[in-house]
Amino acid sequence: MSFERTQEKLKILADAAKYDVSCASSGSKRSNTSKGLGDATGMGICHSYTEDGRCVSLLKILLTNYCIFDCAYCVTRKSNDIKRAAFQVQEVVDLTINFYRRNYIEGLFLSSGIFKSADYTMERLVAVAKKLRLEENFNGYIHLKSIPGASDELMKEAGLYADRLSVNIEIPTKEGLKLLAPEKNREDFIKPMVKVKNEIIQHKSERKIIKSTPKFAPAGQSTQMIIGASGESDQQIMWTSNYFYKKFNLKRVYYSGYIPISYDSRLPQIGTDVPMLRENRLYQTDWLMRFYGFEVHEILNSEHQNLDLDVDPKLGWALRNMEHFPIDVNKADKFMLARIPGLGMKSVYKILQARQFRKLNWEHLKRMGVALNRAKYFLVCDSRDFERRDLTSPQLKSIILQNSTSKYHKVLSPQLNLFG
Ligand code: SF4
Repeated sequence: MSFERTQEKLKILADAAKYDVSCASSGSKRSNTSKGLGDATGMGICHSYTEDGRCVSLLKILLTNYCIFDCAYCVTRKSNDIKRAAFQVQEVVDLTINFYRRNYIEGLFLSSGIFKSADYTMERLVAVAKKLRLEENFNGYIHLKSIPGASDELMKEAGLYADRLSVNIEIPTKEGLKLLAPEKNREDFIKPMVKVKNEIIQHKSERKIIKSTPKFAPAGQSTQMIIGASGESDQQIMWTSNYFYKKFNLKRVYYSGYIPISYDSRLPQIGTDVPMLRENRLYQTDWLMRFYGFEVHEILNSEHQNLDLDVDPKLGWALRNMEHFPIDVNKADKFMLARIPGLGMKSVYKILQARQFRKLNWEHLKRMGVALNRAKYFLVCDSRDFERRDLTSPQLKSIILQNSTSKYHKVLSPQLNLFG
């Protein structure tokens, strides 16, 4: 295989992989000065987090962008007239080792279009990981895509060589999936997730008794949903997310704003904005559910089906639930402190620690880094002066937005003026 051909494949298959955000991605600028194989400039280097929370750079590619399916939202769909390419197993192994030796990457993120069948594709993904581990003694990070519909045996093998496995739900609702990918079945996504979850539990419990039991997908499993392709509400997205977190012990759910790529009447038209701000609000909600003790139905429910774009979801919740405020920072428990807008979990722990020794006032809170420009309307402390509490929710929102320095303030300013 010529150097040029490998470079061309790399370009096509790294480009095709960029639509998958289930390993958080950012470009690498490092280039090769010695003219050897492995120039990483623009060649699909992304970053992800390992089992112990380290950030690692990964070679992010597809094994192939040939696919037997025709999912309307996907650039790799079979009806799309694009350049196609496929790596051989050994090529991916060689590229990974090559990039690794040059210090461009610390691991591999490998996904694929489905060629021939789910098992045929999965077998090759597993073969890459197996060769890297057993023949090359590769100890770097490996994130493998699980192919929906792949057999339990292959999923089991995949988890023995990969650090993380992920199968993408893609479309948040069953109805949306039926509309945009009628050949696909929600059950085909769920089956590998169940297998991975059970294997992780089993391997963990066996390792407690037999230390030599191999680890199984030690960085867990994750998934991705495309946002805005099928007209779903934020409530539908986050309730699906919540279900998958709880049911399959997922480590992460990634939300990817749909990038219009085709003239298809079922999808947003080409030229429609990618819903970046909505994506951000969904991540914030996800964070509140995982780390701040919020239940999904508190933030999104039948009365409130979509997140506010002009305020973050915690502030939005506070403004709709003013009866809980003001909260006394010298008395409230961790759960309630975490609900004060402007207070992150770090500040919550600092408050819990510090108030063992003294009553806290504005000055103490400021020194702790509490964002008082928002928090001051929702708390009381050991200071006489306090912000006016007779404001209505819309008035308070308007004041906070006027004083906001959020990076989204500029984007939204034409709409925000309506609240002024
Ligand atoms: S099966 Fe996967 S790669 Fe193939 S068209 Fe559907 S989403 Fe794209």
